[in-house]
Amino acid sequence: MSQSQNHDENSLNKLDPNWRNDALDLGLDYGMQTIAVRAGQHRTDEGEHSEPIFTTSSYVYRSSADAAAHFDGTKTGNVYSRHTNPSVRTFERRLAALENGERAVATASGMGAILTMCLAYLKAGDHLLAANQLFGSSIGLFNNYMAKFGVEVSYVDCFDNDAWTNAVQPNTKVIYCESPSNPLAQICDIGYLSELCKANDILLVVDNCFATPALQRPLDLGADVVIHSATKYLDGQGRVLGGALVGSDKLMQEAFTVVRSGGISMSPFNAWVFTKGLETLKLRMQAHCQNANQVAEFLVNHPNVSTVHFSGLSDHSAHELATRQHHMKDGYGAIMGFEVKASDSRDTKEAAWHVIDSTQMVSITNNLGDAKTTITHPATTTHFRLTAEARAEAGVKDGLIRLSVGLEDVEDIIKDLARGLDSL
Ligand SMILES: *Cc1c(COP(=O)(O)O)cnc(C)c1O
Repeated sequence: MSQSQNHDENSLNKLDPNWRNDALDLGLDYGMQTIAVRAGQHRTDEGEHSEPIFTTSSYVYRSSADAAAHFDGTKTGNVYSRHTNPSVRTFERRLAALENGERAVATASGMGAILTMCLAYLKAGDHLLAANQLFGSSIGLFNNYMAKFGVEVSYVDCFDNDAWTNAVQPNTKVIYCESPSNPLAQICDIGYLSELCKANDILLVVDNCFATPALQRPLDLGADVVIHSATKYLDGQGRVLGGALVGSDKLMQEAFTVVRSGGISMSPFNAWVFTKGLETLKLRMQAHCQNANQVAEFLVNHPNVSTVHFSGLSDHSAHELATRQHHMKDGYGAIMGFEVKASDSRDTKEAAWHVIDSTQMVSITNNLGDAKTTITHPATTTHFRLTAEARAEAGVKDGLIRLSVGLEDVEDIIKDLARGLDSL
C-alpha cells in the first residue's frame, strides 16, 4: 500500500499546514502577487513542485462504509469530477484568494457562470435588473431564456446612478453589471450599486472579466458575487474556455449545487491552464494597460476617429470613477471602443470594415483579452443577433470598432490601425 492510501481521510481535500503553500489558504498575510503565484496548491505525497493535472472522472473509496460516508456527508472527499476535482479546486482557491472572496466555483465557460448565477439566485416572478451594456450572449441568455422561465428582465444606463435607483422594483432580486463594460468600456459605480442593493435586499453581481482582480476587486467595493470569463485575461493567451463565480461560502454553495447538478463543470486541464495564467496576470495586465493607454491616445488624436470609448482618457465621463475604483495605477483595462467617421465614399459601417480589413497583424476575431491584439465590428458580429433597438440601447453603432489591445510592441499596433484610418 502506498503511503497516501494509508491516510484515513482523502488528503487532497484537506488543507495541510505542514505543506507550506497551504498556509496561503489559511489566511496568513501575503501580498497579492505571492497569492497569485502560490495560493491554492495542495501538494500530494509525491511532493510535486508544480500543480498537477488530475485527469480522472471518478475516485475510489477504501470500503463500502467509506463510500457511504462520502454520500451521507460525514466525509467531504471527491466523489466525481462533475462535482469536485483537485486541479479545479486549486484554480478556485487561487482565484478566490485574488478576488478576496471566501470561495470560488469554476464553470465550463463564462456563460456557464452567468447561467449558474441565474439558476442559483433567480426564480419565476423575480426581476433581474441589468446594465444596458453587456456581453452579447449575456443579453441573449437574459432575454431569450430567463424570460422563458418567468424572470422579468430590464436594462438601465450603466453609468446613470439615478436610473439604477429608479428602476428597482419590489421583486428585483439581482442587479447585474460589467465594469468596464462590453463593448464601450463604460464604468459602473460599484460602491453606489452596493448601497442600493443592501437597502433593497438585492444581490449585486459584477462581471469582472475586463478588469480582472489585477485592477479591481468588486467584493471589496461591496459586490456580492463576481463573475469571470476565465477564457479572457485569466488565461490571457486564448487557449481554453472557462468561467467562475466568487463570493461568500453561502452564495457559492448555492452556485456549486447548480454546477454539480447541471454539469456546468470546468475541465481539469482548463483549470490547470487558468491556475498558471493567474501567476502572470498582474504583469500581463500592467503591460496590456500601458499599451492600451498609448493606443487610446493615438486614436483620440486621429482626424478620422469621432469618439473613443475608454475610461483611461482624462476627459472620459467615468475617468475619475475608474481611477478611484481600479487599484492599479494607470490601469483602465485594455479594451476600448472607437467610432470611425464616414467618408465621401464610405458610410460608417463601410469605414469601420475598411479600418478592420486594412490591418495586417491585428487579428480579426470576436475574442478578447488575449496577448494578441484583436479587432471586431460588434454591430455585425458579437451584437448582430440583437434587435436593432437592443443594439441602439447598448450603444453599438455601425461605425463602432472594438479593440482588445494585446502585448505586441505598441508601435506595431498603432501602425496597423493607422493603415485603414489614414486611407479612409
Ligand atoms: C467572453 C465574455 C463572457 C462569456 O464568457 P465565455 O467564456 O465566452 O462563455 C462573459 N462576459 C464577458 C464580459 C465576456 O467578455
